[in-house]
Amino acid sequence: MEHFAPILAANEVHNASALIVDITTGHVLAYVGNLQAAGPEHAGQVDIVRAQRSTGSLLKPFLYADMLTHGELLPEMLVADVPTQFDGFSPKNYDEAYTGAVPASEALARSLNVPAVRALRKHGVAPTLLTLRSMGFSSIARSADHYGLSLIIGGAESSLWELCGVYASMARLEMNFGRAGTTYRLGDIHPLMVLPLTGGDTALPTEEAPPLSAAAIHFTLKALREVKRPDAEAGWEQFADQRGVAWKTGTSVGHRDAWSIGVNGRYCVGIWTGNADGEGRPGLTGTLAAAPLMFDLFGRLPSSPPLDAPFDELVKEPVCRWSGHRAGPDCPVVDTVFIPIPGKRTPVCPYHLSILVDEPELHRVGPGMNGHRTSWAVLPPAMEHYFALHDPTYRPLPPYAGGAAEDQRAMEVLYPEPNARLLIPVELDGSRGKAIVEVAHRQGHTHIDWDLDGVYLGRTITDHRMAISPPDGQHLLTLTDAMGQVLSHRFTIVASSRDRASE
Ligand SMILES: [Zn+2]
Repeated sequence: MEHFAPILAANEVHNASALIVDITTGHVLAYVGNLQAAGPEHAGQVDIVRAQRSTGSLLKPFLYADMLTHGELLPEMLVADVPTQFDGFSPKNYDEAYTGAVPASEALARSLNVPAVRALRKHGVAPTLLTLRSMGFSSIARSADHYGLSLIIGGAESSLWELCGVYASMARLEMNFGRAGTTYRLGDIHPLMVLPLTGGDTALPTEEAPPLSAAAIHFTLKALREVKRPDAEAGWEQFADQRGVAWKTGTSVGHRDAWSIGVNGRYCVGIWTGNADGEGRPGLTGTLAAAPLMFDLFGRLPSSPPLDAPFDELVKEPVCRWSGHRAGPDCPVVDTVFIPIPGKRTPVCPYHLSILVDEPELHRVGPGMNGHRTSWAVLPPAMEHYFALHDPTYRPLPPYAGGAAEDQRAMEVLYPEPNARLLIPVELDGSRGKAIVEVAHRQGHTHIDWDLDGVYLGRTITDHRMAISPPDGQHLLTLTDAMGQVLSHRFTIVASSRDRASE
């Protein structure tokens, strides 16, 4: 640890703490409360292991596992990464870009905020809080209303002590699954312990079944172990793979906290770095300022062989290779893979359509015309708009030959979401600001006529954005494209606000 102190101090980061935990028992093998190098001028005497800090992205794996446990998700299912706004809350990814559609496992490994917030809205804040508390997050004790959707992107606080305890419990649930003839051992979820208790099993008995299934934990740790990382982490990807380390980083708003927590088949290692006085520093991210310390510690521990999958909770199921959904009748490439048993309840692939196309596959044709039938992957317009920017192999649904058009999903409003509640800001001079409505259309060059509450606003060509400033209340936006298709979209403007900083 101490040899990292000068590296951190070069960026005016003076404090760090670390834990190494034996997952089997929950015993703490190493405890570093702070850096000696911090000295009295940088609060080096403060034990930061127990300090409550913003959790950044460290809760995301538990939401992913919760949704897998309850059959709301499959591990590789495509999820939306598009501009999103819920009740005045507009999450952004770290790089402020959108992927359009991304496998859920990759969204977790890349720690994308937008899919995480969308997932939390779908799963619900209150059920997520119940799961977090059942897993041992007793300090995340306030109401669902208090945290809201920011819960999953750093809106809650916990300590390195508690976080390592819960990560170790999660790993322990998978490790002990099926041992001694029972699926779960009661008492596998428990806090860390500093001193070994004398004799026997140290697990504290509990009557409750664990909130997360071993199957869900298996896929969660797999996602945190295997999915390709950004280039900056490529070196560690190989290292993590060799050591069987599943790891998650966290960075708080304002770069005040950098976290990295990893588990393998035997140990949990957790790192926090930052400044005890809460001063943020550019470059203070989990990836840059905490993960290197974590991997340094894993490098000093024996490596651990990977665990067997918890097959008793898995079932083989045909899955669309492209979308990660259960395969539908029109999915062209299907793999039969293990999924968590509740995953059989998830919807089949909604993207593959069987269509008739002409020979060069540039136009769709009607029945009886010259052509052949093929499967085509069609994303909703908002997902397609961003996905196509990243994936050159993606081909939008071809138009009908002869200009006849009946594609009912040609238009989609990117912003605001259907039935969204928008705040319109007040400008510095006290005048009412504007909201920019953004629409995607499958056809690159077309026009859209805009109507708001029966009043014609104008026409957009190719770039479909319009600034609006309607009064508070409900509104109906009606869009008509060049082919006469109509899209109706409702949203609500809530009391305008000068100060949105309290969100
Ligand atoms: Zn499919």
